[in-house]
Amino acid sequence: MKVCKFGGSSMASGETVKRVAEIIRSDEERKYIVVSAPGKRFKEDIKITDSLLNAYRESRKGTPLAGLLQPIFDRFVGIAADLGISDKVDLPAIFHEIEEGIAASPIPDYAAAQGERLSAMLLAAYLGYEFVDAREIVRFAEDGQFNAEYTNDIARKRLSANTSGVVIPGFYGSTSSGMIRTFSRGGSDVSGAIVARAIKADIYENWTDVNGFLTADPRIVDNPKPIPELSYRELRELSYMGANVLHPESIFPVRKANIPINIKNTFEPANPGTMILPGVLQHDRLITGIAGKKGFVSVLIEKSMMNNEIGFTRKLLSVLENLNMSFEHLPSGIDTMTLIIADTEIGGKMQDLVGGIREAVSPDRLEIQSDLALIATVGHGMAYKPGTASRLFTALSRVGVNIKMIDQGSSELNIIVAVSGEDYEKAINAIYEEFIN
Ligand code: ADP
Ligand code: ASP
Ligand code: MG
Repeated sequence: MKVCKFGGSSMASGETVKRVAEIIRSDEERKYIVVSAPGKRFKEDIKITDSLLNAYRESRKGTPLAGLLQPIFDRFVGIAADLGISDKVDLPAIFHEIEEGIAASPIPDYAAAQGERLSAMLLAAYLGYEFVDAREIVRFAEDGQFNAEYTNDIARKRLSANTSGVVIPGFYGSTSSGMIRTFSRGGSDVSGAIVARAIKADIYENWTDVNGFLTADPRIVDNPKPIPELSYRELRELSYMGANVLHPESIFPVRKANIPINIKNTFEPANPGTMILPGVLQHDRLITGIAGKKGFVSVLIEKSMMNNEIGFTRKLLSVLENLNMSFEHLPSGIDTMTLIIADTEIGGKMQDLVGGIREAVSPDRLEIQSDLALIATVGHGMAYKPGTASRLFTALSRVGVNIKMIDQGSSELNIIVAVSGEDYEKAINAIYEEFIN
């Protein structure tokens, strides 16, 4: 059996939903379908999830909800009409209920989830499949933490009852008291993986708008080559480091059950896309792919004889722990240590961080650099080939990019460099030219 997840661009309009249905009907094994909310139909379009979150926020400032929900309602009415199923789903009644639900919500999650819910309802009606609400099968703890094992139990029980076709909304679930909670953005990929594990699927097909996992972000590199095969570990590195074609947490449920993921293109279904498989794949390729993210800060801490000071690192890290802040990297020298932290983790707590570090370890020097980008060059092939790092550094120096930090994990699966945010695109293109083109 196959689990198929269709992303936002695949569900964006009546026309694209028809393509989705064609793909599903072309293979009898495609009986478990997970969908995203309608995404962008064109570049300037707004994703339904963004409109819903905006409606939640604006309504809290006093704007009447009905007007905020109207364009969202219109879009679903349009899709239902294009599919010829307007009589099968009572959209006015559902929108009335959604308006009340949003008004009563203390958190944005309920609002955010409604795009997936309606998208699944419409596709289920069009296909004649059963609609199974994600709140029945995906369970979160009251604090919003995803409860993986309990979810797997209840999802397996609920879904094994139906083998003639179900459509499930991605992105959300509920707590045991019935409150809707969502994953982080892009989380329908995680939902698809959860369903794949629950029904012990032979394969998890993730249908999107590109020909699989590409060697670099197509918004940065012109026409990057696709990656035919990828290991779970390479996927984890690339998706965590910013290749957002797949949510970085979607690997966990399928890894537990050794289920391969096939990333496919809804708009070019004959293209084989990318297969993501367990184990280390035997290839002669040196580099599998490149990914990166902007928005990091480095905090350099210098102190003579730091190495002899027992407990120095513990004291430093306890500052972060007290502020409930995680860090990304911690490269160190003889008398220096550098914390690399995401802007989103720092929030408004920079003063507290600096003050806490001064108090905890009394550094001789403390220097902050903001607007950094991290770039990961990933591939199992690097472990066997000397000279990869030097080629990478040469490629960057050739285009005048200054490297602010280097971190090569001992697994030799990746080399991460920090560069200034303004050099980000240039650096990715230089690495791509050196290793892939
Ligand atoms: P969906 O709505 O189907 O979930 P997403 O927008 O979440 O689709 O993910 C697909 C997009 O991810 C692509 O259109 C592409 O712009 C972007 N992307 C970033 N990095 C990569 C990469 N390495 N390979 C493929 N796509 C990538
Ligand atoms: N619709 C949600 C989002 O835009 C989840 C998803 O598409 O995976 O983030
Ligand atoms: Mg996505």
